Amino acid sequence: MAFNVGVLTHLCRRDACGPSIRQKADSSRNYAPSVRYKRSQANKPMSSNGDTGPGKTRPRRLLLCLDGVPHEVIENVRQRGLFDSFGAPSRLLSPFPTMTNIALSAMLGATPPLGYESLYFDKTARELRGGVSKYIGWRTPDKIPSSYMDELDYQEPLAFEFLVYVAPEKVWRTDMRRFRERFREAPQTRDYFAFLKGTDGLLHIRGPERLAVALESLDKILREIQTTCGWETEIVLFSDHGMNLRENRRVHLKTRLRDRGFSLSGSFSERSRATLAIPAFGLCGYAAIYCGDEEAVAEVANSLVELEGVDFSIYKDDTEAIAVTGANGVARVERKQTNGEASYRYLTSDGDPLQLHPILETLNQAGKLDEKGFASDKDWLANTANHIYPDALANLYTSLNTQRVRHTADVLVSLCDGYYYGWSPFARLTRLAATHGNALRPSSNAFLMSTHRTLPPFVRADDAQPLLRG
Ligand SMILES: [Zn+2]
Repeated sequence: MAFNVGVLTHLCRRDACGPSIRQKADSSRNYAPSVRYKRSQANKPMSSNGDTGPGKTRPRRLLLCLDGVPHEVIENVRQRGLFDSFGAPSRLLSPFPTMTNIALSAMLGATPPLGYESLYFDKTARELRGGVSKYIGWRTPDKIPSSYMDELDYQEPLAFEFLVYVAPEKVWRTDMRRFRERFREAPQTRDYFAFLKGTDGLLHIRGPERLAVALESLDKILREIQTTCGWETEIVLFSDHGMNLRENRRVHLKTRLRDRGFSLSGSFSERSRATLAIPAFGLCGYAAIYCGDEEAVAEVANSLVELEGVDFSIYKDDTEAIAVTGANGVARVERKQTNGEASYRYLTSDGDPLQLHPILETLNQAGKLDEKGFASDKDWLANTANHIYPDALANLYTSLNTQRVRHTADVLVSLCDGYYYGWSPFARLTRLAATHGNALRPSSNAFLMSTHRTLPPFVRADDAQPLLRG
């Protein structure tokens, strides 16, 4: 039996969303059977091809991404009764570095962005590209940083992109009103995907209390939408990354590297063996370092070990391994592929930089380690999804060995919560009440919840696409 698109279109058509029409529709004979049908379909696998997809084999979906809202915050506001028509929120594991473009391109199975942020290092041209002026320019269709942006039906007007970090409340209110109007006008036969960035600005600048107030107004809007559109519209609410909810200060990365004999530049010439480029843009909990000479990579990572605010650095260490080095020790993460199944090994040579020794012991006792100490990717995920570094091995390995971005850094630095690296003019504008970017749990735990489906307790960003778009 096909989903009754006619009823749906009639019901939720523009101007047909007022309460009086809704009441009329509820009492209509045509309406009740399709509601029963849809409820029974709610947890079945879905596809958007051919005769399947929005308004046919499944309800049409409103996908609403709230930039930077941590899983923990959603849990807290739900305890106060907000979003109570949604199922329990999954922990959606945001990839390292925990930044919007990286997270959303992974979650939507889209092309990788050029760099971690709009200012990035182009490894082919060997120079910094992008930045503030390009940030605006990228919103034109031929310069889109990742193809996920093609899928957005709503995102804030261009002028808001920076304003959101100066006047977050005003931007949030205007942005939400505009989203509601646009959504009301959208065709009912396809999904609608909106990205609200105001939540990220609110958290960075004002902290969690002000965000909670903003979420109350969002809750009201979503209740209105549900009342108006009924069971025909599934609402999927999610975030791209989380956030540490504490005041953050600058890490003196450049000073340390200069003290160790490196020079910093926006471009590399032939004779730049000790030259590094470290794009500085948003005030975030990671840094991406590009080396003029690959011989310098390990030395750069080692130079940062004792620096206040640095948790650890990672770099590629031959073809199927990465090195992890930090104040808590030195380790190698190795990956092997057997019959299409990935497995990982965590080898420490000093200390335990990722705090995985207890997990290793658990895996060992459960007989999950092979004779060489490898455990399957699945077992590591099951045992580390709620770890202080969620899904650490696959997450960190993947950050350097797959195309999270087109121009992967030589060294990725994960800072401790409470520290940021970034562009100083941004720092002068405001105090930083929260930030994200590192591989720790607060930034890595985004959330995902649905009004119609029960979702797994945790979902890797790379596995989210079928749940969002399928
Ligand atoms: Zn942010």
